[in-house]
Amino acid sequence: MDKIVSFCKRRGFVYQSSEIYGGIRSSYDYGPLGVELKKNIKDEWWRRLVHMRDDVVGVDSAIIQHPRVWEASGHTATFNDMLVESRTSGRRYRADHLIEEATEIDAEGLSAEEMTKVIREDERIKDPVDGGRDFTEARPFNLMFETYTGPVKGPENLAFLRPETAQGIFTNFKNVLDTSRVKVPFGIAQQGKSFRNEITPGNFIFRTREFEQMEMEFFVEPGTDEEWHETWIQERWDWYTGLGMDPENLRVYEHPPEKLSHYSKRTVDIEYDFPFAGWSELEGVANRTDYDLSRHAEFSGQKLEYIDQGTGNRFVPYVIEPAAGADRVALAFIVDAYREEELEGESDDSRVVLKLHPRIAPVKAAVFPLTKKEPVSTKARELYNDLRGDYSIFYDETGAIGRRYRRQDEIGTPFCVTVDFDTLEDDQVTIRDRDTMQQERVPISEVRERLQRLISTGSAAAER
Ligand code: ATP
Repeated sequence: MDKIVSFCKRRGFVYQSSEIYGGIRSSYDYGPLGVELKKNIKDEWWRRLVHMRDDVVGVDSAIIQHPRVWEASGHTATFNDMLVESRTSGRRYRADHLIEEATEIDAEGLSAEEMTKVIREDERIKDPVDGGRDFTEARPFNLMFETYTGPVKGPENLAFLRPETAQGIFTNFKNVLDTSRVKVPFGIAQQGKSFRNEITPGNFIFRTREFEQMEMEFFVEPGTDEEWHETWIQERWDWYTGLGMDPENLRVYEHPPEKLSHYSKRTVDIEYDFPFAGWSELEGVANRTDYDLSRHAEFSGQKLEYIDQGTGNRFVPYVIEPAAGADRVALAFIVDAYREEELEGESDDSRVVLKLHPRIAPVKAAVFPLTKKEPVSTKARELYNDLRGDYSIFYDETGAIGRRYRRQDEIGTPFCVTVDFDTLEDDQVTIRDRDTMQQERVPISEVRERLQRLISTGSAAAER
């Protein structure tokens, strides 16, 4: 993990937030390359879920919503983690994590009383800071961030930062139904920031208090929900592997029925085998039944149902929800793509290479003149100006060409286009593939089309 964190900082992917003030725990900022990577991941999600389908539309709802939304969704009452405080160090811990890190007990879903009992009785559970065994009782701690709207900080103005994007979709179900031409089965997708006052954030951008989600609620007729659930698990799996993630590092985890959330009939997680944390959730794919729409109907007094125009059937749709975190997914793509390679027969005998799929790579191609001198550099600049605007292109004329290649390998640029002395004679350039390091000679007039094809099919990744 230290290696990935320092790599991310050194190459401008992710920085500690407010670093000049000593940083703030669990907040991170994305640098020039990180912002491109995360944006590409979100765009690929949107492209695949919204643009490539004719049964999904998007929304972008507010972060601060009516407080009743969170009562209806169950967040006010049950969006809690169990908190314990160590009396010896004064530190606070998530009770389930404290138990699970010291024992083999699966603590998820235990009540406050049960956790308190385990912590009191099991001698292996100690304060990680000072080894103390004097803990307060476990008690529920609500993860929603509170704020106030307007100048008066009274209970009547209490509001929350959304802890998930999903509810902004449910509250717009009727709007979307009334104003667009969707018919069940259909989905509504949303991306955006969510906030959770996590007791123990950690593992870099894996768990933070402010993060971005990519969620979609897919509304189906009850009875077809189980089949649609399978479809979406497969769709989401294919999205990760289609973008080059190694299937060996992915698995599907089935939540045992007794541990399901209050709204869920079945939940499956897509997990990634992080080297520092083991198998961890990237995304949950849940069958939320008609829970959310029914609750919002009850709390708002509005009818949130669907009438099938063909059969006249009236029903509250069931919902299949794939819910992923953009930051966590970005971390998984970085970890999955990071390689330190020994090279044979080269002067430089090793390289760091980020084997990102071209579609999500922050920079799609770099253009190099072999030399800074005219007219080679002018020719290279012309090509650069011609290509930029289609996607992110980088121009670099400084240093030895080998060093320039290495620099691009390290940030995951899939293709380097080099203009050399021969170009002046034959109007051809070389395109170097990051993964195979093979170079091919291509007429300048064909470079744009060739890159376009390589990027969209991800041929570089296909050869991995
Ligand atoms: P976890 O069990 O890891 O806390 P969760 O099951 O509470 O996650 P969901 O509510 O299902 O998470 O949210 C969907 C997705 O949002 C998660 O799969 C994850 O990718 C992302 N996510 C949730 N909490 C965080 C967080 N604190 N930081 C970063 N991403 C998060």
